Amino acid sequence: MCGIVGYIGPQAAAPIILNGLRRLEYRGYDSAGICTVDQGGIEIRKRAGKVADLEQALHVSSMPGTTGIGHTRWATHGVPNDPNAHPHADASDTIALVHNGIIENYLTIRKKLVKAGYQLRSETDSEVLAVFIGMLYEQTGSVEQAVRAALGEVDGTFGLVVVSSREPDVMIGARRGSPLVLGIGSGEFIFASDASAIIAHTRQVVYLHDNEMAIVHRDGSYVTKTIGNEATVSAIEEIEFELDAIEKGGFDHFMLKEIFEQPNTFRDGLRGRLQLEDGNVRLGGLESVRDALRTAQRIVITACGTSWHAALVGEYLIESLARIPVEVEYASEFRYRNPIIQPNDVVIAISQSGETADTLAAIREAKMKGATVLGMVNVVGSTIARETEAGVYLHAGPEIGVASTKAFTSQLCILTQFALLLGRMRGLGQLEGRELAKELDAIPAKIQRILERVEDVEAIAREYASASNFLYLGRGVNFPVALEGALKLKEISYIHAEGYPAAEMKHGPIALIDTNMPVVFVATKDDIYDKIVSNIEEVRARSGRVIAIATEGDTHLHSVANHVIEIPETHPLLTPILASIPMQLLAYYIAVQRGCNVDMPRNLAKSVTVE
Ligand code: GLU
Repeated sequence: MCGIVGYIGPQAAAPIILNGLRRLEYRGYDSAGICTVDQGGIEIRKRAGKVADLEQALHVSSMPGTTGIGHTRWATHGVPNDPNAHPHADASDTIALVHNGIIENYLTIRKKLVKAGYQLRSETDSEVLAVFIGMLYEQTGSVEQAVRAALGEVDGTFGLVVVSSREPDVMIGARRGSPLVLGIGSGEFIFASDASAIIAHTRQVVYLHDNEMAIVHRDGSYVTKTIGNEATVSAIEEIEFELDAIEKGGFDHFMLKEIFEQPNTFRDGLRGRLQLEDGNVRLGGLESVRDALRTAQRIVITACGTSWHAALVGEYLIESLARIPVEVEYASEFRYRNPIIQPNDVVIAISQSGETADTLAAIREAKMKGATVLGMVNVVGSTIARETEAGVYLHAGPEIGVASTKAFTSQLCILTQFALLLGRMRGLGQLEGRELAKELDAIPAKIQRILERVEDVEAIAREYASASNFLYLGRGVNFPVALEGALKLKEISYIHAEGYPAAEMKHGPIALIDTNMPVVFVATKDDIYDKIVSNIEEVRARSGRVIAIATEGDTHLHSVANHVIEIPETHPLLTPILASIPMQLLAYYIAVQRGCNVDMPRNLAKSVTVE
């Protein structure tokens, strides 16, 4: 939610900040703004709309100054209009900040400010913090001390960067709950919400910890401290991905590029892990918790959105291969219902960004209750990666498209290997292990085969682009795939879609079936195939239109369904991986047909760092 950038160094700040905002725009895109510091003071240009509108309307790239901050917003407090856009200044217009997160006690602070005679110019929680810092500056005479004092009184979450014309050679970043990375260049610094806005300038970064501040100076020196003013040790790390990983590379949208990357990202998730001969898996990141895994009596997986769907697939995989009971919890619900956690429970958090606020809160709760807490995240060095005892990285590379695609299949890749590993620890035979490992190893080539036939899905998408509703049905391990297919369509095409276990249809949703209702079935060949075919017949009997995702060579379905999208045959537990690919493509092409902004769907943002 929201992207922030700050630059101090020898170069003109505004163009660097503008480029950084373009990289971070997937995090929020309802308003944008830049503030630079120059001899004359601070100058802020901001407005509702996308980063491109900001440049076009206000020519921000020509703003003078070699220090500055920028923001691309996903509104939480106050509608997306010009005054509510960031940066926000204090009352004296000498201090400005950009903020990602929510100041939960902003009303209390606001009242205090109003009582002291301050006037506010926006409805945001963030401006309250800016004005508060300004008030405290009057008392302390130091921007650092004012920021520190203000943050000491704040409840809620923040990733923020502060600049001031009173101290033009200093820039301050701080975080609690929202991410912030400091890029260390030669004689220059860049703060950003994530490394994608930094990599064009330097690969050296410090991932700030919660409750940490970084104070950087124009002379190239910097310190990190806690908000309480204790020195901290900040490890400099290297950004692992290449610049082209965050470019569109000739595709119309990041989402399409990421769909097409899946043969490679899936292979990267297997690399060095899958042991074909032994029918086993080696997950280096979990070595330290082997004993806990061996004795675990229950596994709780907590996640949000697409990751929650991956978790549901994980439940089937782990229960079937390792025979350990698994519960899947929405992270946003988990911590508020006083969950029962036993000492032998293993809690797994799944999050693409590793910054999802709800998931982070859930693992803190689980840790407090004594569980072994593991992470499955994509972004290296992210907060969840750091706050979990052990974990596995997805290795899917940066995912920019707001609708998650490659991260989902990589999550399934990791969960399958995790289930296989647990299974082999707990009695799953080598032969069975080998069979699954072999099938898993063949998945990248099979994804490739599906992608070679995108035209078929594109043609179906053209036919259904004007639908108002969609139903997605699947059974067993493919039920979560139905949920994910429906979510993808909703997210980017704004068509109402629901996912159901196919057999549940007759308990309600069947009432919705008529000639206008397309129904997508996952109807691959497995032991419940006949049941699914019966469900398809039930829909056809009520004039519903059926799009079936079927196993290659299944001629029968062609006579029952209106459209058939074939996927290669695989182990039944691996069908979710292959079945999700046509669903992603269907959602993508329908959204394109409808003229939707696929990479920046309305109201959404990637990496949900607010609760
Ligand atoms: N709470 C702030 C606002 O509404 C920042 C939201 C964000 O993180 O994008 O402006």
